[in-house]
Amino acid sequence: MKKYDLIIAGAGAAGLMSALSASREGMSVLLLEKMEKAGRKIRITGKGRCNITNTRPWNEFSTHIHPKSNTLKHAFHSFSNTDTIKLFEEIGLPVTVERGERAYPSSGKAQDVVNALTAELDRKGVEIRYNSKVTKFNVLDGLIISVDWQESGTDKSAKTNSFIISTGGLSYPLTGSDGDGYKLAENAGHTIIPCLPSLTALMPLKYDSSLSGLSLKNVSLKLFVGKDRVQEEFGDIEFTSNGLEGPLGLRISRKAVKAISSGNKVFAEIDLKPALSEDQIIARIKREFPSDGKMRLTDLLRKLMPGQLIIPFVNSSGLVQSKILSLQLSGEIYKIADLLKNWRLEITGYTSFERCVITAGGVSLDEIIPKTMASRLLPNLFFAGEVVDLDGDTGGYNLQIAFSTGYLAGKSASYFVKKSKMVI
Ligand SMILES: Cc1cc2nc3c(=O)[nH]c(=O)nc-3n(C[C@H](O)[C@H](O)[C@H](O)COP(=O)(O)OP(=O)(O)OC[C@H]3O[C@@H](n4cnc5c(N)ncnc54)[C@H](O)[C@@H]3O)c2cc1C
Repeated sequence: MKKYDLIIAGAGAAGLMSALSASREGMSVLLLEKMEKAGRKIRITGKGRCNITNTRPWNEFSTHIHPKSNTLKHAFHSFSNTDTIKLFEEIGLPVTVERGERAYPSSGKAQDVVNALTAELDRKGVEIRYNSKVTKFNVLDGLIISVDWQESGTDKSAKTNSFIISTGGLSYPLTGSDGDGYKLAENAGHTIIPCLPSLTALMPLKYDSSLSGLSLKNVSLKLFVGKDRVQEEFGDIEFTSNGLEGPLGLRISRKAVKAISSGNKVFAEIDLKPALSEDQIIARIKREFPSDGKMRLTDLLRKLMPGQLIIPFVNSSGLVQSKILSLQLSGEIYKIADLLKNWRLEITGYTSFERCVITAGGVSLDEIIPKTMASRLLPNLFFAGEVVDLDGDTGGYNLQIAFSTGYLAGKSASYFVKKSKMVI
């Protein structure tokens, strides 16, 4: 049976980077990927452009990492966002930093990221086997000694000095990440923090699908769990057939999904006019009235919001479409001003793993040594990427988690192997 210094399960962002860092340490590496090609998820990232990282310094970067950014600190400092850009440029992929410190391949093609990584692995002599699903690893005297996999339906096995699980989470299972890594980790005795979809669409109660396609720029969004305001964000919202999306919808989704799945009432409150105070809106509304002091509600709203929003806004706020407003009845005007500042939608559902961007939860961080990404239970087992209980906001943070933990896991596995060879 062939023997390797390192076997890696999963050729996504984390597995490819683990293989690269270990091969640079001179290790013999076997990378096993269950799909027919590497990095299927990378190919769909950033709407096909792949936001490879975010260039913010650690003190800002870390505020976008959940649930405990501290556990990423070592991995980030061993292979940072600037290292990611440097490495891609070194291997022939120029990078451009855009608005929001988001870095993309200058070619604008996510596929080029995968091609650059696999070409470098090829140069380094890493063996990649596709259609190869890791099923099991075998332990003797407290160390992993071999890994079993099914290659195009045939059982295979190889000996190894170390093993990395980088099989991803549960999001977009059609790309290959469908939770195998959790089963492998559980077999080693690891605890899996329950997984939930994150960076996902939120579905309001009685959602009016005519909102689909509407984008609201520069609005403010508050998330309430019961009576408590738990998050406030400013930016753009998109309404799609799946509900609330866009940067703001996705940003509040982590807390919203967690609260809904724990049985809480969840509300999104949108301030459609964040630049104006309620008094300023009232003054603005009064100016819109014609000289006879009467105005149809929908005619007023047409001056205050996009046409596509009017009917859903009216219906969800308990207003009457045909209402004629009167300048004399200031109560009505105050109510409309209040609704424009606090348009409340109850969120009752969300898009699950089949179409969420990231998995929250995974292999417990308490059982992983952050300085090495090694298991605290088996010294030659390492973890990298989304399989671990770490996730980030949108903006390049998740791929950087995969690259940093992948690089560190590959390097740590190499040190483990070198050290054990010296002892022998
Ligand atoms: C639509 C979408 C857009 C995104 N856009 C961005 C973005 O622009 N920027 C960003 O930072 N993040 C983005 N993300 C998140 C990012 O893609 C992930 O965080 C990242 O790919 C995780 O890398 P990974 O290597 O841990 O897992 P994955 O990329 O999921 O790779 C895991 C690999 O393991 C393989 N595998 C699974 N089980 C086995 C097994 N038993 N044996 C062998 N192989 C196995 C899978 O086939 C897969 O190839 C996006 C995600 C989605 C879904």
